[in-house]
Amino acid sequence: MVVMLVAEGWAGSRGSRHHGSVHVPRHAVKAHAHVRDLVRDRPGPIAWDGAVAWCGCVLRGGRRSCGVTNSITGAGADHAIREADALLYGLGDGGLLVPHDSGMLVHRDVVGPLAALAEAAAGASIQLQLCSGHRGFARQLAIWNDKAAGRRPILDTDGRPLEAAALAPDALIDAILRWSALPGGSRHHWGTDVDVYDAAAVPGDYCVQLTAEESATRFAALHRWLDVHMRDFGFYRPYATDLGGVAPEPWHLSYLPVAQPCYARLSVEGLAAAIRGSGMLHEARVLERLPELFARYVRRVAPP
Ligand SMILES: [Zn+2]
Repeated sequence: MVVMLVAEGWAGSRGSRHHGSVHVPRHAVKAHAHVRDLVRDRPGPIAWDGAVAWCGCVLRGGRRSCGVTNSITGAGADHAIREADALLYGLGDGGLLVPHDSGMLVHRDVVGPLAALAEAAAGASIQLQLCSGHRGFARQLAIWNDKAAGRRPILDTDGRPLEAAALAPDALIDAILRWSALPGGSRHHWGTDVDVYDAAAVPGDYCVQLTAEESATRFAALHRWLDVHMRDFGFYRPYATDLGGVAPEPWHLSYLPVAQPCYARLSVEGLAAAIRGSGMLHEARVLERLPELFARYVRRVAPP
């Protein structure tokens, strides 16, 4: 079976429904590999929600072929999925991460939108800078193990310090996940998500804390400006409010056109494969609880 791919703009693709054809965003016209999976798993009419056709080619912005042909079978398709999944879980960059002006790595398709956002913010006397960009699995794992072993502070829901050694494994896991991502489950893996602050609002030697209090005081002007303007540049806050999973992080911005396909492609099985054998402390218990942890701390984000 051959699937006809029709290119159109991202926003225009949402909600399209066609028999025998799939509408995909312009930058995703070579997303054959995932379309093959889509068709295999759900034969018949395909409801396209703008967030499913995704493979290495999409991440490459359609600029480089991964060898997948226009049919929906072929060895190249599996290769593309593996490569794309590596970025998804922080296990590789697929050549898609590039250095930002800050020196941090971001997805190459986010560099332009970030520059546009910063330029517009500058017009409002805000110096928008990154304090975090891409983080890989190994970095997230080091943070996890430091917290689980009591080498880094862990906090309760309200931000009060806890003692790791005094907590049962489940309580420890939940305490860490309130403030830190599961290795393999961080949106920072994709290079689409960044933590930002306003350098114009603080002295040069200021140490950014990324707390709710700091966001509401020193960086209030930044956040008011983002509230009004970030959507115009494709950004949104996945952790805008407390949904009972990750604590609110107003400073964490996500570039939706690239992040949303990543989000749609995540799976418990993929995450389990990334974690299994990684040397993560409490790995066995995390894997046992993974469906629940995945739903609460990875999936549960503000609707785009
Ligand atoms: Zn963040």
